[in-house]
Amino acid sequence: MENKNNIDFGNKIVKKSDKQILVNKVFNSVARKYDLMNDITSLGIHRSWKNDLINWLAPQSNQNLADIAGGTGDIAHKFIKAGGNSAHVFDINKEMIEVGKKRYKNYNNLDWTAASAEKIPVSDDTFERVTMSFGLRNITDRNKSLEEIYRILKPGGRFICLELSHVDNAFFKKFYDLWSFKFMPLIGQKVTGDKEAYTYLVESIRKFPTQAEINQMLSSVGFARVKYRNLCNGIVALHSGWKF
Ligand code: SAM
Repeated sequence: MENKNNIDFGNKIVKKSDKQILVNKVFNSVARKYDLMNDITSLGIHRSWKNDLINWLAPQSNQNLADIAGGTGDIAHKFIKAGGNSAHVFDINKEMIEVGKKRYKNYNNLDWTAASAEKIPVSDDTFERVTMSFGLRNITDRNKSLEEIYRILKPGGRFICLELSHVDNAFFKKFYDLWSFKFMPLIGQKVTGDKEAYTYLVESIRKFPTQAEINQMLSSVGFARVKYRNLCNGIVALHSGWKF
């Protein structure tokens, strides 16, 4: 039964203290195939969603980015390519970081730190921009991580979160459910050998708060001008907030 000591892990209810261990197991298991799986399961569309995030963020040459739960560094890399000054990836999982470090070894304005989004090892008011892409769903104490993001942003800074969200069209949802519940775990099994990991990923999307609820969470930690945009009928949503 759900209570204050428990939390969802996909469709399972687990102890809060166990969720991070289970999430780490998922990403340890898929790290080396993570980017390939993203391409297969989203039919390559995750690249365009990430580009939409970067376009909305519109990086400038005087801006430094913290990408929280940044995984293998896609967003950080795109931020630099789009004209940002530097990017720093924070992720709790060293395996994910290692894959990204190898891939982007020629970038000296891209840094990496293994750290939890719930305790980011950075002083207050450090970064002009903060992003989190497909991270928030996996975090045990989401409010704490949003407070941390707010804390490390400079006044005048902006946060954008990209996350799998809730589809708003009933007809489209039927196809999406079929694809995600039936095919994604099977593809996960074939490509990474870990069907469970992809079952968790799909289940965790359906348990995630709605677009309006995430906006409410952003506002309650202090973000201003909070807005969201649905992409692909709400398969994913971009949430934006400012620190003033
Ligand atoms: N941001 C990348 C992307 O868009 O491709 C990676 C997203 S991946 C679905 C989720 C990432 O969240 C994993 O790299 C995982 O290690 C990381 N993660 C999970 N819990 C975390 C936490 N508490 N703090 C920081 N990172 C976390």
